[in-house]
Amino acid sequence: MIILGIESTAHTFGIGIIKSVGKKNSVLANVKDLYTTEKEGIIPAKVADHHVEVCDVVFEKALKEAKIKKENIDVIAFSQSPGLGHTLRIGAMFARSLAVSLNKPLVGVNHCIAHLEIGRLLTKAKDPILLYASGANTQVIAYEAGKYRIFGETLDIGVGNFLDTFARALGIGFPGGPKIEQLAKSGKKYKKYIELPYVVKGMDVSFGGILTNIQTKWNSQMFSKEDLCYSGQETVFSMLVEVTERALAHTGKKEVLLGGGVACNKRLQEMVKIMCKERGAKSFVPENQFLVDNGAMIAWLGKLQFDAGIVLEIEKAIIEPYLRTDEIMVKWR
Ligand code: AMP
Ligand code: MG
Repeated sequence: MIILGIESTAHTFGIGIIKSVGKKNSVLANVKDLYTTEKEGIIPAKVADHHVEVCDVVFEKALKEAKIKKENIDVIAFSQSPGLGHTLRIGAMFARSLAVSLNKPLVGVNHCIAHLEIGRLLTKAKDPILLYASGANTQVIAYEAGKYRIFGETLDIGVGNFLDTFARALGIGFPGGPKIEQLAKSGKKYKKYIELPYVVKGMDVSFGGILTNIQTKWNSQMFSKEDLCYSGQETVFSMLVEVTERALAHTGKKEVLLGGGVACNKRLQEMVKIMCKERGAKSFVPENQFLVDNGAMIAWLGKLQFDAGIVLEIEKAIIEPYLRTDEIMVKWR
């Protein structure tokens, strides 16, 4: 079976193709085009225009990379929730027209759960806690009693959004996370840790106040870029690791899986690894191309759902920008 997955929840338009024969699953293609800027952040309508512009090229590239024709596709999956309405609509439209023209079944998937399932497929983690740290989303998710439950999450912006907005204040463009990671490592060998608010409320985290605080510090011109980047990372990553550790303690699980673009950050990976080691658990990190938003993860969850009989009628294949991870019945586990 060949499954095509379309990702368009935010800045990335991606198409992944997975081939599944018996128990063997392979990613034939995982092509993406990311909307980037030099200075400003992202404006949903502009990103939607970007996706319209690149969708055909990304599709053709994916077919070429997978060495298949579009007629070989058996199932079409698309990210249906959650995300920016402007951009989700482009992926959904692309998926619907492909499903109609090829007369193939259509599957709508939840983006956050797709991060978790592709991680389980590729790392062999069995029943992990997912630390999903991305641009718009920050959630600690795990499977309990038929659903992927959210054990902790951000109360305001995603951790990636925090990094990107701070990067915009520094004038280093979008996406800011990788540039902040570099700045945090550069400069003096021993960085000065600048005290920032540390905001964990119960099992949840919040970044808005830290953002205001760090931007005020930057504007005061009393601190270096490098020290602020270093201190910002140390603070917000510690918060994420604390909540993840408590989710491990609460559920009794023994595995942590990383997902989302921010999880590409080597320092975050290191901190999670240390925490896991200290409490006898194991951490799993998929390759970067599967951490960031990508079409392959949508294809893979599409396959799991298709096998479980969860398909959509074309007329009902509408986007659900606000659907939460824990609203979905997990019939495939
Ligand atoms: P996603 O929404 O999952 O595709 O992830 C995009 C987010 O990941 C953006 O906010 C990026 O700034 C962030 N990101 C990507 N690479 C890194 C990195 N090395 N360190 C921190 N954040 C990163
Ligand atoms: Mg994502």
